[in-house]
Amino acid sequence: MKSEEGTETEYDLLISIPPHRGMEVIEKDKLGDGGWIPTDRYQLTMEGHDNVYVLGDTTNLPVSKTGSAAHFEAEVVAENIASIIKIGAPVREYDGKVYCFIEAGHDRATYAMFNYQNPPNLKSPNKSMHWFKMSYNKMYWTSVRGLL
Ligand SMILES: Cc1cc2nc3c(=O)[nH]c(=O)nc-3n(C[C@H](O)[C@H](O)[C@H](O)COP(=O)(O)OP(=O)(O)OC[C@H]3O[C@@H](n4cnc5c(N)ncnc54)[C@H](O)[C@@H]3O)c2cc1C
Repeated sequence: MKSEEGTETEYDLLISIPPHRGMEVIEKDKLGDGGWIPTDRYQLTMEGHDNVYVLGDTTNLPVSKTGSAAHFEAEVVAENIASIIKIGAPVREYDGKVYCFIEAGHDRATYAMFNYQNPPNLKSPNKSMHWFKMSYNKMYWTSVRGLL
C-alpha cells in the first residue's frame, strides 16, 4: 500500500479511512475550500463575519469532526450569543476541547481528551471506562431531553 505522502507499507488487513470532505454546497457557493467554512478558532465566527457562527463538522478547525467537538463548541456559541444580547460582548473562547470515548473491545474502553494546546495522551483501556461510557450514553441523552 502506498500513501498519498509516498510512504509504503505491507499489510495483512487494511482498514482505511477515505479522505474527509465537507459539504458540496459550501464549496459550490465559494464559502470555503474543501467544503469547510473558514472559522475563527476561538470565537467560532465565520472569518470576516462577526455575526455568523460556525460549529460542528462544517468548521475548518484543526479538531476532530465529532459530536463531542460540536457539543463543546455549542456551549461557547450559545453563551456568547446570550452575552452579546445582555452586555454587548462575547465572554467565552473555544479552546479546541474534545473528549472521545474509545471502545477497545472485550468490555474495555479508553478515552482521548485534547485541545489546541494539548494533544491526546491515550491511557490503556480498562473495564471501568467501558462501563462509564455505557452509563454516560444514557445520562447524556436523559439530560439533553430534560433541557428540551
Ligand atoms: C458512523 C459515525 C459514527 C460516529 N461516532 C461518533 C462518536 O462516537 N462520537 C462523536 O463524538 N462523534 C461521532 N460521529 C461524528 C458525529 O456524528 C458528527 O461529528 C456530528 O453529528 C456533527 O454534528 P453537526 O451538527 O455538525 O452535523 P450533522 O449532525 O451532520 O447535522 C447537519 C444537519 O444539516 C442537515 N443539512 C444538510 N444540508 C442541508 C441543507 N442544505 N439544508 C438544510 N439542512 C441541511 C443534515 O440533514 C443534518 O441533519 C460519528 C459519525 C459517524 C458518521
